Amino acid sequence: MGKIIIAGNWKMHKTQAEALEFLHVLKSSLEEANEAREVVLCAPFTALGIMSKSLHGGLIRLGAQNIHWKENGAYTGEISGPMLTELGVEYVVVGHSERRQYFGETDETANYRVIAAQSHGLTPILCVGETKSQRDAGETETVIINQIKRGLVDVDQNNLVIAYEPIWAIGTGDTCEASEANRVIGVIREQLSNQEVTIQYGGSVKANNIDEIMAQPEIDGALVGGASLDPVGFARIVNYH
Ligand code: PEP
Repeated sequence: MGKIIIAGNWKMHKTQAEALEFLHVLKSSLEEANEAREVVLCAPFTALGIMSKSLHGGLIRLGAQNIHWKENGAYTGEISGPMLTELGVEYVVVGHSERRQYFGETDETANYRVIAAQSHGLTPILCVGETKSQRDAGETETVIINQIKRGLVDVDQNNLVIAYEPIWAIGTGDTCEASEANRVIGVIREQLSNQEVTIQYGGSVKANNIDEIMAQPEIDGALVGGASLDPVGFARIVNYH
């Protein structure tokens, strides 16, 4: 078991004003939250600065949605480690399936980004997951094991979060059975040298399924997309029973 981390991935949602409004509501809803649960918001780059000022190191941590492996250079549209740490960012999502599907991310580039994040003191959240056709073909374990092996070359497992996100469950409302997510996360854990790495489940996590997901022994948290956009619903997810 690793530290419990519930992370919201806002994707390309929320202006600065909307982000501040969200924080205002979320902060008041988290008063009863268990302090042992880390809450992370992975916001668009444009909202990170203002969110950081509003959070000033409270219970909620800040995450970004990508990082380049170089510190600076001619990489139009990319963002570097120093740019994120200057804003108080602590986590960064790497290798999300949407980056893999739409922006050519590979296991190799995800690996470079994981290493870069760690070298700047950020905690990478490495996403892995199989497609529906890979699952139907019985390839889930092979796909996941390959993603883990390639993504973790030369990676320090003492500063790492992994998110198991079956692609067919992302944004579809089609959640993976909690027991099946638990099983695959167990397979991921077998590949790791550090058994304390936090391994989250992601894929249509909602207020009405989080309790069952978090009751699974191998699951150390959740990466939440759509349901992290509403502060009241997200607070219920963080305050899971
Ligand atoms: C995600 O974006 O990582 C995700 C899991 O999305 P959703 O919760 O909307 O399925």
